[in-house]
Amino acid sequence: MPAELACFEERCRARFAITEVIYNCPKCGGLLEAVYGKPEQSTAELQTIWRNRRTSNAPLDQSGVWRYREFLPFLADYSRVVTLREGNTPLLNAPRAAQYGGLDRLVFKHQGFNPTGSFKDNGMTCGVAQALRLGMTRVACVSTGNTSASMAAYASAAGLQPIIFLPHGNISFGKLAQALEYGAHTLQVEANFDQILALVRRLAEELGIYLLNSVNPFRIEGQKTIMLEMMDQRDWRVPDWVVLPGGNLGNTSAFGKAFREMKELGLIGRLPRLAVIQAEGSAPFYNLMRARDQSRLNAIEHPQTLATAIKIGDPVSWPKARLEVSVSGGTVETVTEQEIADAKATIGRCGIGCEPASATTLAGIRKLTAAGTIAKDADVVAILTGNVLKDQDYTYQYHQGELKTLEGVPIAPNFGNPPVVVPYDLNRITDVLNGLPS
Ligand SMILES: *Cc1c(COP(=O)(O)O)cnc(C)c1O
Ligand SMILES: [Zn+2]
Repeated sequence: MPAELACFEERCRARFAITEVIYNCPKCGGLLEAVYGKPEQSTAELQTIWRNRRTSNAPLDQSGVWRYREFLPFLADYSRVVTLREGNTPLLNAPRAAQYGGLDRLVFKHQGFNPTGSFKDNGMTCGVAQALRLGMTRVACVSTGNTSASMAAYASAAGLQPIIFLPHGNISFGKLAQALEYGAHTLQVEANFDQILALVRRLAEELGIYLLNSVNPFRIEGQKTIMLEMMDQRDWRVPDWVVLPGGNLGNTSAFGKAFREMKELGLIGRLPRLAVIQAEGSAPFYNLMRARDQSRLNAIEHPQTLATAIKIGDPVSWPKARLEVSVSGGTVETVTEQEIADAKATIGRCGIGCEPASATTLAGIRKLTAAGTIAKDADVVAILTGNVLKDQDYTYQYHQGELKTLEGVPIAPNFGNPPVVVPYDLNRITDVLNGLPS
């Protein structure tokens, strides 16, 4: 069976050619996903091919996404694929974070090691490859965050024109700066996110611009490799839990699909449980999964959290995420702004560091072990989604004791580490150093 696009809705499941330029099912409006036949190679052959490619100097083999291309075979020709060597992110052991989270041991898979500093790169290399294959010359997204940074980098590297639409006056400067540096045309529109998205969908159709928003099914395919690479690194030992932040829920959808497909191919024997963590002020998926009626998600009109990467009130991929959390026997939890900030500082103290959205994982683990949902001796991998350098204001303000929630409530610097001002005086500095805790 060649690769196709399929409607995700159970009652529709309409199929479309992989080269159709559609973002939702034309029949029912449902989400789309890429579907394939089984690869020719056996499970053991695939595992050997993937492992051997780690010693190759070929760009595609060096990519932590395209190394696993048999697992996402939507392209007919790989000659125009552009890679910045995305993926290849480490599994980091973090004993101090484990202790804070109530676990015997904890491993982070750190997607902040990606070329533009977030997991968006895993998906974007695939979305841009599809744009090239469709003969597009311009790509666009509506985003103020890591998606913009990643799209700008990959589009420019591929010789495409990146266009970013932003709600005017709602800018995340660190991430926007990256997009500008990577050469994106950036348009600030005087409207909110949803209004702009509706407009951009029309523009895309009329002007032949390819949309690389979170709903793009090829980005989801690329993000599957985060779990494939993790399993390869673990010699295919399945963890008990995979813990990740939930925003638009693309990653939750991608991880669940990856594990189901790995199980179908016989690469693994069981599914790990997915634990999705949301910020308390921005938790529509948590509300859905705790509700009696899970047939529709109630959007939150004004989501509130300092973790901007997950400040999303109407997550597009919720139907996929609902299935993946249920099928895996997983759970959804929320954490407060204080819990996120303290967890982030704890991850920093491990010498690892991450952006605020990523720290929801450790904060969530602490709650889930306390509640007995995750056992103390469980084998847990938490996904750090973004780099510590992304939100420098947040980090600095926390350590200075100046961080406040969006409602103006002070966040206590429980693990604060502010700089100390000292006079230019050897004896005084000696006294200060002798007074430091050992
Ligand atoms: C995009 C993003 C998220 C949210 O991921 P979803 O797939 O939208 O749920 C979390 N953390 C970081 C750093 C991100 O960039
Ligand atoms: Zn449909």
